[in-house]
Amino acid sequence: MRVQFWGARGSIPKPGPSTVRYGGNTLCHEIRTARGTLVIIDCGTGLHGLGLKLLSGGGSLSGHILISHTHWDHIQGVPFFAPFFVPGNKWDIYGPKGLNQSLRETLAGQMQHTYFPITPDEFGAAISYHDLLEGTFEIDDIKVTTRYLNHPALTLGYRLEADGSTVVYCCDHEPFSREVAEGRRGFSGLDQHHADFVEGADLLIHDAQYTAAEYPSKAGWGHSSIEFVVRLAQHANVKRVVLTHHDPMRTDEALDGIVEKIRDGLKASRSTVLVSAATEGEAIEVASSDALPARSSREESRAMASVKPALSQQSVLIKVADVKVATAVGNAVRAEGLRANFCSSAETARKLIEQDPPSLAIIDHAAADDDRVLGALRAIKDELPIVMVAAHERQEVDVTDWLTTPFTDSYARTKIRAWVLREACRWIRAPISENEPARLRSLRELNILDTEPEERFDRITRVAAALFNVPMATITLLDESRQWFKSCQGTAGREDPRDASFCAHVVYNREPMVVVDTLRDERFADNPLVLGGPRIRFYAGYPVTLSDGCCIGTLCLLDTRPRTFEAIDLKQLRDLALIVMEQFQALKVGHA
Ligand SMILES: [Zn+2]
Ligand SMILES: [Zn+2]
Repeated sequence: MRVQFWGARGSIPKPGPSTVRYGGNTLCHEIRTARGTLVIIDCGTGLHGLGLKLLSGGGSLSGHILISHTHWDHIQGVPFFAPFFVPGNKWDIYGPKGLNQSLRETLAGQMQHTYFPITPDEFGAAISYHDLLEGTFEIDDIKVTTRYLNHPALTLGYRLEADGSTVVYCCDHEPFSREVAEGRRGFSGLDQHHADFVEGADLLIHDAQYTAAEYPSKAGWGHSSIEFVVRLAQHANVKRVVLTHHDPMRTDEALDGIVEKIRDGLKASRSTVLVSAATEGEAIEVASSDALPARSSREESRAMASVKPALSQQSVLIKVADVKVATAVGNAVRAEGLRANFCSSAETARKLIEQDPPSLAIIDHAAADDDRVLGALRAIKDELPIVMVAAHERQEVDVTDWLTTPFTDSYARTKIRAWVLREACRWIRAPISENEPARLRSLRELNILDTEPEERFDRITRVAAALFNVPMATITLLDESRQWFKSCQGTAGREDPRDASFCAHVVYNREPMVVVDTLRDERFADNPLVLGGPRIRFYAGYPVTLSDGCCIGTLCLLDTRPRTFEAIDLKQLRDLALIVMEQFQALKVGHA
């Protein structure tokens, strides 16, 4: 394989006199096999120069593009890649399958009208998009293995095997353990897993944005130190390592000095690993060798995504005594494509953890109080997410997160996916207040749940939808496990699970709530009513409170696009909500 570097800068392009030798363009790599297969890895601004070179060759152009993740410095060249504009050209683009968006949607995001004059639909070339999971697949004569890296965005590393040689690309990546990152401990757990992935590579291209001295103040930002990468290369029998994702602040002189120091250290320890810093324009011929195959603790699986969750081949340990709860957790785990390993005793738990190390543990208080279970789990790796199932969260218990009962299947699935993918789950259910029994009694005294629509309520939601120019408006009543609409304009159904309810937050806080853009809100961005129908982007709800002080529901407005909501709007919504309250209050008096 021949590898050429078209960009080696991380984070932001940095042209100028201080970066003229190593280059200012963000990451882009051209890889060609002896047979002529073309693979481009990452599409930073370096892609522009590569595109021009490819076009200057003439003829029709086909190739494959692997994207590690969709942070700017890895995709910003896409709209400027000239071969995309030539009819007859064929390109395949591969990248990690995100939770909410396809790769195509994500790439199209930076080509929205606000940012760029044309959309991907206007590319002349035929472009196919492929969402990837962890696993292997083939690109002509190249075997590609993918592995999730540790970075704030879902990121894949790529191991390419062709022509009898192996090239591994890992950007962006930070060691999982702080101790391993700082060289205070040897490789173990997930960091050993990462070392297995790069094992025996003839060429390793690795994120090395920081120096060991800079790293402590940048821990958690998703990048490695140069010193860590060199240790990794030595530990994993890598023949040659190229440091890249250079910090924008790193001058040519500084990089020269760092590389020189590293080489001196390696010489002193008689290490044979070759180290250099990626240089824009440089090409490396990777000689064939008998590289060791990547050591894999799992079966080889196909990397091409066919189902939504990217979680196959991983297991979840479940030790929950309550059979109903354990079954619900198990069903959610399986629905996400994960294996559910149930255990009843501490002894079986320990055995299972050893035989099939889980990616997530969901346990109850009894299991958490048992050091044999917790100890075995913590021994796998420090970062293993351990989630406690309980009726209430308790501050003093040290777990990754809580799954409070009762929960819906959809809620549990969203949380499980996020825990395993180590991402934040932006779906927060409304808490339930202490006066809930009284509140439910007051609601039920109205005898209104599941009754037919009535004109006196529909009139109000109709006026609300027209006044605020929103497609949906509802009078919502919050029942024990659902929200039910006494009146609704523009919604498909008349009820939703309480877990997903926006109005439940209004009822709990007893205050109006406005969410101008759900996708930017930690409480709602992963809510199923946002990600799926009715695709709520805007919400404004006003509490409906009876004279006994119980808040039974809301009058609310919904839209599928983000909006603003002024103080005057809130006043008008309040006026309408007061009319709703009067109607309910009259019912109450009527029943009394
Ligand atoms: Zn980056
Ligand atoms: Zn990144």
